[in-house]
Amino acid sequence: MGIEAARPPAAAAQPAETQLHIGGKWLPACDGGTFPVINPAREEVLARVAAAKPADVDAAVRAARAQFDGGEWSKMDGVERGRLLYRLADLIERDRDYLAMLETLNLGRPLMEPTVLDLPMSIGTVRYFAGWADKIEGRTIPTSGYFGMPTHSYTVREPVGVVGAITPWNTPAMIACWKLAPALAAGCTVVMKPSEDAPLSTLYLARLAEEAGFPPGVLNVVPGLGEVAGAALARHPGIDKISFTGSPEVGRTIMRAAADGFKRVALELGGKSAQIVLADADVEAAVGGVALGLFFNQGQVCAAGTRILVHRSKYEQVLEGLTRAARDIRLGDPLDPRTNMGSLINKTQLERVSGYVQAGVREGARIVAGGERLERPGFFFLPTIFADASNDMRIAQEEIFGPVGAVMAFDEVDEALRIANDSRYGLAATIWTRDASSAHLLAARLRVGAVSVNGWATIDPRLPWGGRKTSGIGRELGWAGIEAVTEEKVITLVL
Ligand code: NAD
Repeated sequence: MGIEAARPPAAAAQPAETQLHIGGKWLPACDGGTFPVINPAREEVLARVAAAKPADVDAAVRAARAQFDGGEWSKMDGVERGRLLYRLADLIERDRDYLAMLETLNLGRPLMEPTVLDLPMSIGTVRYFAGWADKIEGRTIPTSGYFGMPTHSYTVREPVGVVGAITPWNTPAMIACWKLAPALAAGCTVVMKPSEDAPLSTLYLARLAEEAGFPPGVLNVVPGLGEVAGAALARHPGIDKISFTGSPEVGRTIMRAAADGFKRVALELGGKSAQIVLADADVEAAVGGVALGLFFNQGQVCAAGTRILVHRSKYEQVLEGLTRAARDIRLGDPLDPRTNMGSLINKTQLERVSGYVQAGVREGARIVAGGERLERPGFFFLPTIFADASNDMRIAQEEIFGPVGAVMAFDEVDEALRIANDSRYGLAATIWTRDASSAHLLAARLRVGAVSVNGWATIDPRLPWGGRKTSGIGRELGWAGIEAVTEEKVITLVL
């Protein structure tokens, strides 16, 4: 199916958005350049999208600056910003089936996944931050005065300015909403650079923002290559904050580029999260949850729970359950409702996953399920489980970003904790147990940004999200999401 066939009736007459969105206009790149976007499940070109060059990025930043520095947007109050965001959420909801279809065609993932997770999260996130728009308050702070004179000190939270948002391909619409919703609620303007692998849903969000009535230039979208458009955005002096989600390698480059102008930086990077099954866990529930945490979105999830630490008394039972779960997964056409695993995003990713699986075998781990690609068009890789893994293996230390899990046994909870924390990453962890005390005690000692107990990746727009160590700097979502796009200014009157 092509993208045109997937269009919602309301938008059927219009061509799919494949141009740059700058200052409220849909434009080709300044040099007319484009890049192909493929349907990875079929290895077919889905669309050709305009490839922004530094001059295009510059035009987008200027448009965003003009709205921020005295434009119509800068004069709007929080009530009005909230109203526009609520309208945007309604429009995403109206066209959620189309957006889910775009994610499926562009990522090769089963339609059910964006339908049940990405789109509800996107809509929920925009509504949640719409609610904050008129509630961003300051504080009154008592002090001991100024040279004997009393003072009155208070703070206000002001928008940080123009936000440059750079996003990955794995859940593009949802992560776009995580970035644009708090920024717009706070009164910032945004230039967004979606991944060259999956830009279509972000472009469509810009179309919806236009329909919602955001002034032109408040939200700009400049798809393009990372080293070209992304790099131009990261170093642009007109950007006040870069909010990046992607790999640690690119995150490091962005942080360096941002250093020159002392830009604020938020980095949401990768993970190698542990799923810890304690001796008293409900094994059936744990196996289902661990499998979800391993295989959702073909394992292409930052919070994927790829290190499975199981108490030795339950090891064989969990391993057997996971092996069965992996073998029961049906790979194939993402549009077939019986399919529960689709394609990886591209050939590079397929080769990366195959390479890690070979490394696991070389280092002595044992494949009990999967381990190879499917010989058919599309970048399909079988859900893979390694037994007899140890935490020093590459499959346990490096982010694979594919459907591959390493199962390890432990004897004492302290040993599980030590293994879980023995990682350069610190994004998330899951604990499976029936005992609330064990859960709290273990959760307190895990060096990660989020711990879920008896459920994998319990994300919600109200809960802060972000990592420690190599998993990143800063938090998105929740009130922390507003703090991340505002500066607190203090004002003191000597009375
Ligand atoms: P990536 O780092 O390759 O690309 C991310 C974005 O950065 C893309 O838009 C890309 O075009 C751009 N980019 C590439 N080079 C650039 C440069 N030199 N300057 C500026 N921008 C540049 O990541 P990816 O492959 O798209 O996504 C996968 C990674 O994202 C994984 O590591 C995953 O864990 C991480 N991720 C993290 C979270 C989180 O919330 N922590 C969520 C999703 C994905």
